[in-house]
Amino acid sequence: MKPLPRSGDSKATPRRGPGGLAVALGLVFLSAAALFTFWYLPRQRAEEIANWSRDLGVRADLRRDVLARYFEDALAGARTVAGYPSILQALDPATGPVATRHVAELLEQFARSQGAFGAALWSVDASRVAATSDLVLEDGCARAAREVLASGAAAVGIHLHATAGPVLTFSAPVKSRDGVTRGAVMVFESPARWLYPFLVRKLSGVDTGEAAIVARDGGDAVVLSPLLERKDAPLRFRRPLGALGFGAAAAFDGSEAVSPRTDYRGIRVLTTGRRLPPSAWALVMKVDEAEALMTFRANALRAGASLAAFILAASALVFALAERRERLQEAALASSEARFGALLDGAEDAIFLLDPAGRLLDANRRAERMYGSDRASLLRLSAADLRAPGDTDGAAAAMETLNREGRNVVTTVHRRADGSTFPAEIRSRRIELGDAAFLIAIVRDVTERRRQEDAIRHSEERYRALFDGMLNGVAYCEMLWEGDTPADFIYLVVNRAFGTLTGLKDVVGRRVSDVIPGIRTDNPDLFETYGRVASTGRPESFESFVPALGIWFSISAYSPRKGHFVAVFDNITERKKAEETLHETQRQLAQAQKMEAVGRLAGGIAHDFNNLLTVIRGYGELLAAGLEADDARREELAEILKAAERATDLTRQLLAFSRRQTLEMQALDLGVVAGNAEKMLRRLIGEDVRLTFSAAPDAGLVRADRGQIEQALMNLVVNARDAMPDGGPLAIRVFETAAVTALPSVDGGTPPGRYVVLSVADKGGGMTKETLEHAFEPFFTTKETGRGTGLGLSTVFGIVRQSGGHIRVASAPGAGTTFELYFPRVEETDAPPAPADARERGGAETILLVEDESSVRELAARILRKRGYHVLTAAGGDEALAAAAGPGTIDLLLTDLVMPGMNGAELTNRLLGLRPGLRVLFMSGYPGDVLSRYGLSGSSLPLLTKPFDEAELSRRVREALDAPGGRLDPRAEGSPV
Ligand code: ADP
Ligand code: MG
Repeated sequence: MKPLPRSGDSKATPRRGPGGLAVALGLVFLSAAALFTFWYLPRQRAEEIANWSRDLGVRADLRRDVLARYFEDALAGARTVAGYPSILQALDPATGPVATRHVAELLEQFARSQGAFGAALWSVDASRVAATSDLVLEDGCARAAREVLASGAAAVGIHLHATAGPVLTFSAPVKSRDGVTRGAVMVFESPARWLYPFLVRKLSGVDTGEAAIVARDGGDAVVLSPLLERKDAPLRFRRPLGALGFGAAAAFDGSEAVSPRTDYRGIRVLTTGRRLPPSAWALVMKVDEAEALMTFRANALRAGASLAAFILAASALVFALAERRERLQEAALASSEARFGALLDGAEDAIFLLDPAGRLLDANRRAERMYGSDRASLLRLSAADLRAPGDTDGAAAAMETLNREGRNVVTTVHRRADGSTFPAEIRSRRIELGDAAFLIAIVRDVTERRRQEDAIRHSEERYRALFDGMLNGVAYCEMLWEGDTPADFIYLVVNRAFGTLTGLKDVVGRRVSDVIPGIRTDNPDLFETYGRVASTGRPESFESFVPALGIWFSISAYSPRKGHFVAVFDNITERKKAEETLHETQRQLAQAQKMEAVGRLAGGIAHDFNNLLTVIRGYGELLAAGLEADDARREELAEILKAAERATDLTRQLLAFSRRQTLEMQALDLGVVAGNAEKMLRRLIGEDVRLTFSAAPDAGLVRADRGQIEQALMNLVVNARDAMPDGGPLAIRVFETAAVTALPSVDGGTPPGRYVVLSVADKGGGMTKETLEHAFEPFFTTKETGRGTGLGLSTVFGIVRQSGGHIRVASAPGAGTTFELYFPRVEETDAPPAPADARERGGAETILLVEDESSVRELAARILRKRGYHVLTAAGGDEALAAAAGPGTIDLLLTDLVMPGMNGAELTNRLLGLRPGLRVLFMSGYPGDVLSRYGLSGSSLPLLTKPFDEAELSRRVREALDAPGGRLDPRAEGSPV
């Protein structure tokens, strides 16, 4: 920038004061000469100096304002950068490495946007963390950084760089949220770029004018900028404060007065100084006294020479001189204005001079370009006119604070001549020049700065949005070791999902042992894995349950840097729960299958046992009948028979469990059945157990065997009694329910449907999970030997399952037990049972007896022959067909149903072909569901179930022979046989 004087330059500021008296010149000549020499000249000199003082003062003020403005802007830039979160992260020893590259780019961008030649980030120990790429940092830079770090305040500095020469630094501390200084951002600028040219520029209208910046260093003044006669002065030229001759000492003491002294060249000068906040430097300006007083001296000579003429024409001259003085003063002012304008024009910002009312008095070139308007048009405006439409109030308010407080800074929107607008930052100051007050406004178009700041902020925001937008939780942690063992870790950075997934808050900077107490003992695996990842650097994925949070995590961990790891995780608790439910269902199913298998085994044994018992009891009874009444062996035989009977009971229970007993199914009202059994049950439980009974009156009917239901109820009540040795409440309830969805139950599941429920609930000791798992198995008991058989619940299980029902149990140790028997509800009632009760008499008819088990066959034959029947025996179907092929009548076919080879049904079919009138009675030890596998429906056949006793066999045979309708034809039933 070069000075652009607009008005004619003038060095002449002559002052010629009025003389003394117009008349009696001769008389006053001497006194006038004396006055001239001793009074007039010194006064003129002082006045000249005062004029220079004002002149230098205005120049110094302007420069100070522009420099202060420049420093503050540069510091504001450094502060903006210091405030970015990534800068703070980069200073964190842990997060640093991730953020550093990002920060280096950020510094690069920033330095570019500022026209600085570099920028650096220092850590708190003044070691460099990041810097723009081609910046060489050396000791001087570190020293400057240390000063900022020590003071914790932003600072302007300058130091001598070995390669770059003097460098200007603008530093701002980086502070953590709690105000602790963590580092410093330093922006490097070359003073040669703007500062020095601004200073060394020759003062307009002054030949010997010079400005410099000095700093105080102990008792010395160090010159920071080039001097006209010593270009290498910056930071190398120093003198004792008072000896510099620049008035530096006075400036540092706050004095702004202009005073004559001798400068570094040994020449007398007029100087003035200004403190230069925010720096600690002073701006000093001087002009050679010779130049300053040149006009004064010339004038003095001239004045002396013309003193005579002056005296001669005193009165005339008084007016003439007065007039001239006025003119010259105007000229001086014009000259001052010209210099002032030149300075303004050199600035980077638009600079306005205004009167206190806000009217523009002057504007620099830059203002013309900024507002797209020529100076003349600008000077017709006032401050309010520069503002964007609708903001004139703002202008008035700003003007008012400015006049009141002397300075202000405003950010607003200004308008160009073409109507377009731009963001403007205005720094204004009120200055007093003599009696008049003026306003100086420095306007900067901050469009570009805003754009750069926005760009940097957006890049920062994008990075953060990406991180925080992740659905997975991310935690960046540093591992802490005890020797080789991972002992703890610190959360350095976490994203937003971290909080949502774990429910943890404010974890950054804290140890996990503090965030989740007990985690190290709860999850040693977690520590081991993270430790491995942090030390080997190999990524690992795993699942882990954290009991303290009650959360299952699926985690992928990797290590961005040795000793650190990043965990990316998801909360999979819901999925785990679903898996557990699935396992439980599978376990129940397995349990049901086990019961089924045990049932088949028990049933198979019991079935064969039954046949044997039938024989034992049959022969025993026959033997007893043959003994004399007083025979001593009668008693022994009775014992045998009693044992056989008990054995029969046991097998019946086993058969019940394996669902192989023959049931007399009928439509039952469970409420009635249970009600009838109540009296018997009360006897069973003793006095301490309080039995309550309730049955919903409209609970529907179920299809079941009455005796079996009673049996089941009894078994449950006995168990409840055993569970409450000291007594307690026992509730039996019957009610109806509609299971809408499948319910879990002992047997693997209760499908949706309508059920009548028989519930038995006690408040006894309850069962452990373990006991409950085995309770329904035959021979499982927790009771002492002799007290429990372990068949109670297995019988209940068989009875309920055979009736198409289901069992649900709720039990827990100490909380009592509730058994619920679910029977499907049926609609129909049964026809009243046939009253027939055939007598137990014999007959003379011929019976064909077919039975593969020889002992049963022999027993039945003996019983029937004893009653007078003619019995033909056969061990199987073929033998029977052979016997029937012969002549003679056969009145009844008594045949086992399930036989090896030809079964009973098939045999019947074939025989009916030979002898159409034949009556049939089947025998079987299998229940109806087995028979149906042979295509036979148990309830539709005349069936004698094994084991039978003598009386029953006789009665059923007689019934069969006497039955109306004669022959039986299974085909009529739609049977396949
Ligand atoms: P037992 O009664 O002969 O032991 P059960 O089959 O009736 O055989 O019962 C098996 C086991 O189930 C019992 O030994 C007992 O541990 C447990 N049990 C059955 N009912 C109850 C109940 N109401 N309260 C506590 N435990 C019970
Ligand atoms: Mg029992």
